[in-house]
Amino acid sequence: MFRIIFLTILGAAVLSLLVFLGAAAGILYSNISESQLLSLRNELALVSSGVEQGGKAYLDSLRLADARISWIDPDGRVRYETHADAASLDNHFSRKEVEQTLATGSAEICRYSSTLGRNFCYAAKLLPDGSIVRMGISADSFQQVLLTYLKPLFFAILVCIGIIFFLSKTLAKKIVSPLEAIDLDRPLENDAYPEIIPFLRRIEKQKNKITRQYNEIRQYLKDFLNISSSMSEGLIVLDSSFSIININASARTIFNAPENCVGHNFLQIDRNTELNKALELALNDDSQKLQLSRNDHIYIVTINRFDHSSYGSILVLLVLDITEQAQAEQRRREFCANVSHELKTPLQTIIGSSEMLENGLVKEEDVSSFAHKIHKESKHLLNMTNDILHLSFLDEQAPHADDNFDLYEIVDSCQRYYSRLASEKNVSIIVAGEKAIIHGVKSIAEEIVYNLCENGIKYNKPDGSVKLTVSKENDSVVLKVIDSGIGISKADLDRIFERFYRCDKSHSKTVEGTGLGLSIVKQALKHFNAKINVISEPGLGSKFTVVFHAKAEAEL
Ligand code: ADP
Repeated sequence: MFRIIFLTILGAAVLSLLVFLGAAAGILYSNISESQLLSLRNELALVSSGVEQGGKAYLDSLRLADARISWIDPDGRVRYETHADAASLDNHFSRKEVEQTLATGSAEICRYSSTLGRNFCYAAKLLPDGSIVRMGISADSFQQVLLTYLKPLFFAILVCIGIIFFLSKTLAKKIVSPLEAIDLDRPLENDAYPEIIPFLRRIEKQKNKITRQYNEIRQYLKDFLNISSSMSEGLIVLDSSFSIININASARTIFNAPENCVGHNFLQIDRNTELNKALELALNDDSQKLQLSRNDHIYIVTINRFDHSSYGSILVLLVLDITEQAQAEQRRREFCANVSHELKTPLQTIIGSSEMLENGLVKEEDVSSFAHKIHKESKHLLNMTNDILHLSFLDEQAPHADDNFDLYEIVDSCQRYYSRLASEKNVSIIVAGEKAIIHGVKSIAEEIVYNLCENGIKYNKPDGSVKLTVSKENDSVVLKVIDSGIGISKADLDRIFERFYRCDKSHSKTVEGTGLGLSIVKQALKHFNAKINVISEPGLGSKFTVVFHAKAEAEL
């Protein structure tokens, strides 16, 4: 901009100077011509009177260096000529100044002289005898005079151009400096030229718009990053050469990727060939889904390709942790297999015994023992079916916590319910504690208390005891089931909550059970979000402690 303004000012000033000089030269030229013609006219008047009186002798006596004098007869013949041999000249009758002088008595004309081959200015006068005296002066001599004036002017012009150059530069700088000083971050706070203010207003408007849009985009990005970083699912965005554009915290943990892995090739972070292949296929527009195992977890990776304005194609990987579902599925499969296996044994006994009875293969005295066996196995089957139903009910549904009830009341009724079994086993049931309200489904709480109490009786010793206590501790209600029974070994302690797990197989034969009681307890505890702790010493007894959340008094 500075250059344009500078050149424009310089050009305009130089042009003005030249126009001025041209005009001055023109005026000077016309003034010089005028004064030359005046002196030519005066000289002609003198020469004419001299010729009129002295004729040719007068002309011969004249010593004029510059002026050309011709004496022309009325018929155009040249009688005398200072700059040439008169006899050799052609007839001048048709010369313009001659024609005009013959017509009007005098003439002043500037024209090209074919005789001398130069521009001449002529002044001519008619003498009384009809002859014409003509004086000519070279027009070049006018220009010579002009050049004489212009020569000193040439240096003045150079000085002027220098001054113009300097002034143009200073002026251009002065014009441009307020523009350069404009603060575009605060357009309306500038002390700018009034002509620029509409532009500054526009810039301010655009700036505000851009700032608003930028803030919106930043907020979107922040929200996206917040959401993706707090996602438990892994989210990875790759470009078409598998370089990481974005990766959230979960994905970094899953793939053990360093914090600064953005920009690195994902294949350097995970070299799994199956995943690599899936990425290649996904790039060709085929959504891919594959299962991966990392750090004892099972993941489903979904890969989708999207078009992106800057990156061309991008791949978005969503990594879902399906460990729990996979384990649940595994447990379900194992449970089904166990159920069939557990049901098979009593059923085979029942079928075998009843067939023998039907075919009369059993001796009369053994019939009642066979009937007892069938009865026992059928009861076992029924118990197992009930337990399985309970368990699947707890597995499948999450019953609503719709009741506030007293845990001590359940413990109390449990004592009454098992009093017969306890006396059969010669075990005493002791109940202690206080009223303690918890919230949930009462029948599920009963499952917990009844199963723990039943086990305390079943796996006890003669003259043993089962103590049930309910107490309130801070925000918790604590149920303790302490027996003086056979106890559980350390190895078994870790497994007693597994489905169909029974500790001592020899015991299992004598003590009725399905191996599902504690599994039901475990599932039931989930409903209350309660915790269980078991301490046991083989031969001395076991202590089951369950901690429930107490229902606050204010909520009752
Ligand atoms: P079961 O129907 O066999 O009682 P459970 O799931 O209730 O099934 O218990 C699993 C196993 O844990 C039992 O078979 C038993 O060996 C052991 N067990 C449970 N409670 C006790 C206890 N109070 N004392 C000793 N062993 C116990």
